[in-house]
Amino acid sequence: MTSLRTEILVIGGGATGAGVAWDAALRGFDVTLVERHDLAEGTSGRFHGLLHSGARYVVKDHDAAVECVEENPIVRRVAADCIEDTGGLFVTTPDDDEAYAERFLEGCGNTGLPAEEIPVAAALRREPRLNPGIKRAFAVPDASVDVWKTVWALARGVQAHGGRVLPYQAVIALHRDGNAVTGARLRNGLTGEELDVEAGFTISASGAWAAQIAQMAGVQGVGVVPGKGIMIAMNHRLVNTVINRCTMPADGDILVPIRTVSVIGTTDIHTADPDELAVTQAEVEQMLDDGERLVPGFREARALRVWAGVRPLFQDQKAGQVADTRDVTRSHALLDHLERDGLERFLTVTGGKMTTYRLMAEHTVDAMCRQLGVERPCRTSEERLPGSEQAEPYHLGARLRARDRELQSEQLICECELISRRRLEETMRRRGTTNLDDIRRSLRLGMGPCQGGFCIYRATGILHGVGRLDGAGASRSLVDFLQERWKGMWPILYGDQLRQARFDDWVFQGLLDVEHLPESAPV
Ligand SMILES: Cc1cc2nc3c(=O)[nH]c(=O)nc-3n(C[C@H](O)[C@H](O)[C@H](O)COP(=O)(O)OP(=O)(O)OC[C@H]3O[C@@H](n4cnc5c(N)ncnc54)[C@H](O)[C@@H]3O)c2cc1C
Repeated sequence: MTSLRTEILVIGGGATGAGVAWDAALRGFDVTLVERHDLAEGTSGRFHGLLHSGARYVVKDHDAAVECVEENPIVRRVAADCIEDTGGLFVTTPDDDEAYAERFLEGCGNTGLPAEEIPVAAALRREPRLNPGIKRAFAVPDASVDVWKTVWALARGVQAHGGRVLPYQAVIALHRDGNAVTGARLRNGLTGEELDVEAGFTISASGAWAAQIAQMAGVQGVGVVPGKGIMIAMNHRLVNTVINRCTMPADGDILVPIRTVSVIGTTDIHTADPDELAVTQAEVEQMLDDGERLVPGFREARALRVWAGVRPLFQDQKAGQVADTRDVTRSHALLDHLERDGLERFLTVTGGKMTTYRLMAEHTVDAMCRQLGVERPCRTSEERLPGSEQAEPYHLGARLRARDRELQSEQLICECELISRRRLEETMRRRGTTNLDDIRRSLRLGMGPCQGGFCIYRATGILHGVGRLDGAGASRSLVDFLQERWKGMWPILYGDQLRQARFDDWVFQGLLDVEHLPESAPV
């Protein structure tokens, strides 16, 4: 296949792009979603995991807070299977300005956010590891969200409505015919093959890369400031509720329980290039110190992995520069290039939050319909995503309960995340990928304490066994996976995780000699 036609081309397979594609597919458009890597491998897969109640923004960013207040209950309803209803607490630690709490309550009132002050003793009973010195505590409807599950549910919904989802297809050029964008040229990141897409309308939902895509259409001055933030996953659920410091948004002030781990974050540093994601030792040290303020003894817990993501912070270049990325609004920006640049059939949506992906998509597809002169109402606030039809939020014990049922019949491949052989094989066939890292994101394979030390060579053998890879390919896939994991481990190697890494190294280098695996082996 060297060319294809589509009514709508959506660029960027993060939460926003997948949300736009789902919205447009539900309105009956023929949609194609393209992503240069795997879905949710950009900022969406590198975020903190918090479905915001809006409380973080009530004092500083009224519009962003209101968007979260309105979207939180909708996303809980339509994507229930991707949400864990952890609740959230805003706590005043001994290091925080006590006067902020009153401004916080006032902000909650002004934005319609249901916050309730609870006694400190009740907060400590609920979260016994919390800093016992906290002075006030407020309960808010924060939650944690599994973004990979959300984005793939959106993608499955698109496909179920006849749309195409094309990962590993990078846009390398946009086509123009006079004053209109008419499609794009794609390059497959795995095979190098190129493909021309003829599109009736093109939507760029490429987040921190939005300026680069706009430039391909000849549009200059799309001001996206990449704001880098790091996060560290700790071995346990140190808390079961999302904990925020009740203070002006700052670094390291949120701890989110996600699945089997808790994640501390984050920072916000202006970076020139959205692909520049290096983590420094100083950032790690700062994050661990910040964790101590919320949970004393934090540093003694085992740090599993560190990663960074870049916020797509939109800043209209005409409005001048903002010195601190924390001062850029977390609300989203929709650029109608017909109004802005005289360019038809092309929109850019950027900024915002993962929490507001649905609203961003609704505004974008509404704007497209206006430009096309058609009226098709948005349905995404009623239509549940595939997998969320029962409207049941997931809970931590679900995998354990499922495991109990298949204790005798199913081989366990990943002990940390309770992944059975059947589940792994099904995912390998369904995803049609040969990349173990893609499977990791789909299942959380190798994301527990051993970081793949015990499960990943088993998974490689299974990938080979289901006929997806020959021996040489399987060997390469294993080495690539280990290299990816190493990147997220080395900046936090101390204590038990250092011992684990030494042990894993002994397994992979000493026992398996991974660097000299056979180049070719029979299928
Ligand atoms: C550190 C950090 C913590 C955060 N925490 C939270 C949180 O807890 N809760 C919350 O709601 N929000 C959070 N956010 C914000 C949220 O993650 C982002 O706003 C959101 O994920 C952006 O989604 P997106 O789809 O717009 O961008 P992305 O997920 O980045 O998607 C854009 C995609 O475009 C692709 N792309 C780029 N160029 C091309 C090309 N040439 N061809 C094809 N594809 C291309 C990229 O690969 C990328 O996958 C956080 C952000 C950061 C950085």
